[in-house]
Amino acid sequence: MALMINAECTLCDACVLECPNEAISEGDDIYTINALLCTECVGHFDEPQCKPVCDPDCIVPNPDFVESADELQQKYEMLTA
Ligand code: SF4
Ligand code: SF4
Repeated sequence: MALMINAECTLCDACVLECPNEAISEGDDIYTINALLCTECVGHFDEPQCKPVCDPDCIVPNPDFVESADELQQKYEMLTA
C-alpha cells in the first residue's frame, strides 16, 4: 500500500530526502507522494523512511493503492529494472 500525505503537513521538508524512490515532492498546499513510485520502502529498507521523520505524523496509508508485500516488491523491481 503506497503512503500519502494528509492536510496536517506543515511543509517542513524533512521527508523528501529520506525517500529512496524520489516519490515525495512539494505540491500546491502540502507535500505529496506519487503513489506510483512509493513502495513503502520495500526493496530498500524494512520500514518506511519518511514516516518517522514526520513530526505531525501526517503520512498515512493511501486507501486507493492497496498493495500486498509481494506487489510492493514487484513494483520495486519494475522501478529499478
Ligand atoms: Fe518514499 Fe518510502 Fe515514504 Fe514511500 S514509504 S514515500 S518509498 S520514503
Ligand atoms: Fe509534510 Fe511530514 Fe513531509 Fe514535513 S515530514 S513535509 S510535515 S509530510
